[in-house]
Amino acid sequence: MENCSFCKVISGKYRASFSYRDDTLAAFLDIHPVNEGHMLIVPVKHVERISQLDQETARLMFGLAARIAGAVYRSGLPCEGINLMLSDGEVAGQEVPHCHLHVVPRLRGDSMVIKHNCSEWSEDHRARFDEVAALISKRL
Ligand SMILES: [Zn+2]
Repeated sequence: MENCSFCKVISGKYRASFSYRDDTLAAFLDIHPVNEGHMLIVPVKHVERISQLDQETARLMFGLAARIAGAVYRSGLPCEGINLMLSDGEVAGQEVPHCHLHVVPRLRGDSMVIKHNCSEWSEDHRARFDEVAALISKRL
């Protein structure tokens, strides 16, 4: 994709600091990191949404995320925990329209905030939950 900044990173048009690269995936440092070691894993082929990824690439992406998380812990960089985060679609906060998975090293008191208000739940909701689970399950 011509105007995609991650495609430009992958093609070498934009500079980036890579930790991993093969024919399917690339992993490089986010230039706006939450903490040092904040990595982005992207498919080499331009794909905007996670639902457009083929299953093998999706599997490899999460496998690489686990490997990178281990490497971050062993690297000596400050890291007390890790978030994996994938924002799919603008409403979800996706800023670059090229599917990417964040591997975010976390420190107590850092700038990343994950917050949502959970709705109250009781067994009365079970019927609707079962309907929703079936809606999704039928389309897998
Ligand atoms: Zn792209």
